[in-house]
Amino acid sequence: MKMQSNNVLLLIKLLTLNSLLVLSASQDFDFFYFVQQWPGSYCDTKQGCCYPSTGKPESDFGIHGLWPNRNDGSYPSNCDSSSPFDASKISDLTNQMRSDWPTLSCPSNNGLTFWGHEWDKHGTCSESVLNQHAYFATALSLKNEINLLQALQRAGIQPNGQKYSIGDIKSAIKGASGYTPWIECNNDSSGNSQLYQIYLCVDSSASGFIECPVFPNGSCGSSIEFPSF
Ligand code: 5GP
Ligand code: 5GP
Repeated sequence: MKMQSNNVLLLIKLLTLNSLLVLSASQDFDFFYFVQQWPGSYCDTKQGCCYPSTGKPESDFGIHGLWPNRNDGSYPSNCDSSSPFDASKISDLTNQMRSDWPTLSCPSNNGLTFWGHEWDKHGTCSESVLNQHAYFATALSLKNEINLLQALQRAGIQPNGQKYSIGDIKSAIKGASGYTPWIECNNDSSGNSQLYQIYLCVDSSASGFIECPVFPNGSCGSSIEFPSF
C-alpha cells in the first residue's frame, strides 16, 4: 500500500513538472512589439531599395514584423525549425500583405522572402498563441486598427523631408491611439537622423495594444526628418 501511494506521489510530481516544462516551452515571451517601417527611410539610405514587381508600394507605413519579446528586453528567436514558412497557408492574405507588408529590400520581386524570414525568426516563437495564418492575419488587423500616417498628418506632421520634434511625433500617435510608441531612427545618405520605424506593444495573447512594458534601446536626437516616399 505504502509503495503504491509513493508511486502515485511520484507520478503527480512528474506530471506537474512536465506541464510546467510544456508551459515554459510554449510561451517564452511576455508581449509583442508590432513594428512598422517608413519606406522613405528605408529607401534613402545607402543600403538600396528595390520595389516588388507589382510596383512601388504606397506612401504609407508598412509592417516589418510582430515580435514576441520579454519584459527584461531580451527576446526568443528561431524557435521551431520544424515549422517552416509555408506560403500556401496564407494564400488568402497575400493580396493584403502586398499592400500592408511590402518588402523593400533588394533583390526583391515578391514579399515571400521577407514574410518567411519574419515567420521563421519571430513567428515560430509565438506559435502557442498564433499559428502561421493567425500570425499574419493578426499583424494585418493590428495595422488597420491604428492608422499611423493619418495620426501624424492630422497633427501637421507630413512626410515632406522637414524636421519634426520627436516629442510631437510621439504625442500625435499617443493622442490618436491611446498608446505611447517607441521611435527608431536611421540616417539618410547625408547622415540626417530620420523616422525609420514605429513600435507599439501588444499583449501576450495578441488580443490588443497595451502600453509597452519596456522600450528597446537607442535614441534619435530631439528633432528628426520625415522623408518623402
Ligand atoms: P536591428 O539590429 O536592425 O535593430 O535589428 C535587427 C533585427 O533584430 C530586427 O529586424 C528584429 O528582427 C530583431 N530585433 C531587434 N530588436 C528587437 C527587439 O527589441 N525585440 C525583438 N523581438 N526583436 C528585435
Ligand atoms: P530583421 O531585421 O527583421 O531581422 O531582418 C529583416 C530581413 O528581411 C533582412 O534580411 C532584410 O534584408 C529582409 N527584408 C526584406 N524586405 C525588407 C524590408 O522591407 N524591410 C526590412 N527591414 N527588411 C527586409
